[in-house]
Amino acid sequence: MIPRYVPTYTYSDLIQSLGSCSRDDINAELCSRLATLYKVKHVFLLSSARAALYALLMAYNRPGGVLIPAYNCIVVPEAIHYAGYRAVFADIDYSSLNMTAGTLKEAITPDITVVLATHVFGIPCDIEKITDVSRQYGVLVIEDAAPAIGAILHGQTVGRFGDASIISFQSTKVISGLIGGALLIDDDELAQEVERLLQTASVPCNCLFSFAKALARKMATNSWVYPATLFAYRILHDEQLYEIVTPQTEMPTRFLTSCPRFSSTLVLRQLDRLEWNLSRRRKLAQVYQNELAGYPGLTLPVIPEDCLPAWIQFPILTDNKRAFYRHMQRNGVDLSWTFRYSCADSYGLNGFPNAQRAAKTVLGLPTYPSLPDEHVHLICNAAIRYLSKAR
Ligand SMILES: *Cc1c(COP(=O)(O)O)cnc(C)c1O
Repeated sequence: MIPRYVPTYTYSDLIQSLGSCSRDDINAELCSRLATLYKVKHVFLLSSARAALYALLMAYNRPGGVLIPAYNCIVVPEAIHYAGYRAVFADIDYSSLNMTAGTLKEAITPDITVVLATHVFGIPCDIEKITDVSRQYGVLVIEDAAPAIGAILHGQTVGRFGDASIISFQSTKVISGLIGGALLIDDDELAQEVERLLQTASVPCNCLFSFAKALARKMATNSWVYPATLFAYRILHDEQLYEIVTPQTEMPTRFLTSCPRFSSTLVLRQLDRLEWNLSRRRKLAQVYQNELAGYPGLTLPVIPEDCLPAWIQFPILTDNKRAFYRHMQRNGVDLSWTFRYSCADSYGLNGFPNAQRAAKTVLGLPTYPSLPDEHVHLICNAAIRYLSKAR
């Protein structure tokens, strides 16, 4: 069985990271590497991108509406509410899966103080136009680049277009660090506020525990073990390919936590091969694009011009999500269902048809860099058998 996601760290990364986990300058070193990579003044490491968003909103301290695309990870509107703001939704464009300047204009209201522009699945949104429109309303523009480390739009790194951005090192993202995230800001005053706030953040440090968790997560994707992993996953979680999830309203304890050192050292090691990681993902996406284009019943994402996505998965839109998913499973391929919900639905709001349609039709083909070429062809052949037969 080919897994939907495999962590990007190797067993050797894990062992070497355990060795350097006791160094107390690890987080400072990762901050400085990220500051150079992004050419940004201030970098704050947290336990997740959602915590980074929370910290930024608390520091900005202009409670009101935060405009976000409705097709989104539920943890985003949750973090917005924890920070005392209200999530307001904009629909997406079904072909790009991202919010556009047009859908933003339709949704923006006077009480919006922040626009959060998401680069869904690592595919850059039209951030330049979104920023232009947002400027007219005098709101803060944050880029949700959680899934988009290393994505490039019009020659510029994604995460550098807005006033601030968040990135994630969660295990399904471009660089897996078990957990972790970062907040990138240029503004000195805002950074000072964040700094003050983070003095109260808890500091996890249990290297052995993190090591064991990261090791287990890696081993769970081994081809011999993966069927058992899937079986366990199915027992723990309903196999719902579309649903209306209930948002959490209580902020979890120790939500504001800094990035565990073990995650930081794992990420540091992998920054050295970021270019290889990204080019491998782009190559896999190119194969899917070439092999699967033109089949009726299957829509591929439309990518902006002059852009290099980061591809945490390759989203495809299919009329019958369940049938396609089952067919691929019978052929030894596991696919991602993300996102299987529209956040607008979760907050009881109607009128976001494209977000809902995307949630009902999206499946993600794997793009992790360790996916071998033979597997990519096996995936394409299995998909093509379904698409030819379905006609
Ligand atoms: C993964 C993801 C997040 C959340 O990242 P965490 O580090 O898990 O908090 C937020 N937004 C988008 C678009 C994501 O893909």
